[in-house]
Amino acid sequence: MKKVLTGKDVEALLRAGKGVDSIPDGVLLTPTAKDAIKEAGTRRRRESRSSVASDEPTVPDYEFRWNPGNDPQSPGDIRDFFHSREVEELKHRMCDIGRRMWERGYTDGNGGNLTIRVGDNLVLCTPTLISKGFMKPEDMALIDLEGNQLAGRRKRTSECLTHMAIMKRQPKAKACCHAHPPHATAFAVAGVQPPTCMIPEAEVFLGQIGMAEYQTPGTPANAVAVGEAAIDHMAVLMLNHGVITWGKDIEDSYWKMENTDAYCQTVLMATQLKGSDLLTITGGQAKELIDLRASLGMEDKRADWKECELCDNSEFRPGVVCQIPHGDGARTNGGGGERNEDAEAVVRQVTNEILTQLNS
Ligand SMILES: [Zn+2]
Repeated sequence: MKKVLTGKDVEALLRAGKGVDSIPDGVLLTPTAKDAIKEAGTRRRRESRSSVASDEPTVPDYEFRWNPGNDPQSPGDIRDFFHSREVEELKHRMCDIGRRMWERGYTDGNGGNLTIRVGDNLVLCTPTLISKGFMKPEDMALIDLEGNQLAGRRKRTSECLTHMAIMKRQPKAKACCHAHPPHATAFAVAGVQPPTCMIPEAEVFLGQIGMAEYQTPGTPANAVAVGEAAIDHMAVLMLNHGVITWGKDIEDSYWKMENTDAYCQTVLMATQLKGSDLLTITGGQAKELIDLRASLGMEDKRADWKECELCDNSEFRPGVVCQIPHGDGARTNGGGGERNEDAEAVVRQVTNEILTQLNS
């Protein structure tokens, strides 16, 4: 028979300094035990925030943490959770991020959507057909990871399946942000992967930007394509559509959106000045930044790559091939590879032959 824990048992555990993490999986929790666990979580978060007021300098932590195996199940518990102080706080934060996206011109009409994971099988999301600049906390919806709506007066966004595909495949993704920022979306429409090794902050905080093939927005096929790309990339360009980013909390995931569009805008402006022959950092310098990224807890699939591969922007700059650099010091205009005159000559020759044949 399964062990049953009551509210009093939970309180006794907490008094003994054990914490709710010590409750083994599979025990049955009475409603009072669940309340005690929820209250302990709230207290812990409040304490961790107020401890900031002491002497230790720190950074704000907006990550939502829950106790695994304790999602509310009954309609009453779900309703209470949906209106709890902590979830209300998140709803306000979503409205704030929505307004920031709209003010920066990242969303037009009813475009864009936001999600925050709040349980093993619970996600808070924005509703469908709403301007992101003018949302109210009471507009938000609560859904499960299959997209079934559990609470909220307004119908959930149709694109939530894509967000959930990311959360299912990448457990570190606790919040997602989707928008159509013009500069990054221009890369998505041109089908050009933004190059790397141009701006250090982008290497550290964004990493390499991923690409997902075009699928109809909101469909399971789109969810599969984006979910796959998001395993390795915190920002993904959806071809002919827009951008989706993920992070440990909604602020973090929104920052990735700003980083992505600002980076794409800068690269676009630089190419207007000088074509695609832009200055880059070296592979060695990129490696240092990727190590720094790892020290901040962000995985990077490029950690094991060879230095010469790190800045190989061959898609952005055709004709550039990956070569081990010779000599020391920052190399500019190399893009992690060097322009291969022979290869370019062959491409030119083949193109000319094809054109001649077509004309004749
Ligand atoms: Zn969209």
